[in-house]
Amino acid sequence: MLRHKNAIVTGSTSGIGLAIANALAGSDCNVMLNGFGDQVLIEREMAEFRNKYPSVKVDYSPADMSNADDIAGLVAQAEDVLGSVDILVNNAGIQFTAPIEHFPADKWDSIIAVNLSASFHSIRAALPGMKKRNYGRILNIASVHGLVASAHKCAYVAAKHALVGLTKVVALETAEYNITCNAICPGWVHTPLVQKQIEDRAASEGIDEKKASEELVGEKQPSKRFVQPEYIGDLVLFLCSEAGAAFTGAPINIDGGWLAQ
Ligand code: NAD
Repeated sequence: MLRHKNAIVTGSTSGIGLAIANALAGSDCNVMLNGFGDQVLIEREMAEFRNKYPSVKVDYSPADMSNADDIAGLVAQAEDVLGSVDILVNNAGIQFTAPIEHFPADKWDSIIAVNLSASFHSIRAALPGMKKRNYGRILNIASVHGLVASAHKCAYVAAKHALVGLTKVVALETAEYNITCNAICPGWVHTPLVQKQIEDRAASEGIDEKKASEELVGEKQPSKRFVQPEYIGDLVLFLCSEAGAAFTGAPINIDGGWLAQ
């Protein structure tokens, strides 16, 4: 479906980004992977991609998404190695939780940098090529926390709300170029980012991780089930398809009913 298209998926060494990269490569899209992690595991991931998707070009960039120069380098590397950036998935993200008066200032700065400013820098670098080719699909992985708040997540909620705002501006500025820009807003997805919150909850309440996980999901998500990373991969494919061409500037929640309440 996406043969001859080239994508960057930031933060694709783990969780949701890895599932999105698999979905794109499974649709014959060339993919630039990115993210932190053990070098040996990253090389194994690259080898798995090449094995599973032999007709797809796969490359990896270690760009730090909190660094504007690295992000420009990531886009340049994708244009050079893959040939263009047709699909840009801004997925890399981090979390830290604490009441605002105890929230460390450096955590605020790094969450704003990775969860918000990185998307500004990558979109800014990738758009000229998209406009020239009259095609682009930009997917900003926001969160339900781009639309509602939870306590103890000041930086995350601020960054994700702002990312939804950025999405709308980019959609307006690109509407006549066959470029779309949408914000995907997942509820709870069981990834390392959420595992940490489950462990913290288990420790603070003196309960086991299974109970902590059920409580965490149950209190916000009426389905009482995690959203699967693969569902988000499939949503990205839909938004990249012809049927998705009229979706732009939209926050799209995939949240087991969280925001219906
Ligand atoms: P994860 O921790 O499994 O993956 C995060 C990825 O980002 C990893 O590949 C990591 O290496 C990368 N990363 C972190 N900092 C980076 C940096 N400075 N430079 C480059 N890469 C960096 O987390 P996840 O749950 O898969 O989260 C992915 C995105 O989905 C995030 O933006 C997150 O906010 C969002 N999200 C997650 C959930 C959830 O419940 N898991 C819900 C809503 C939104």
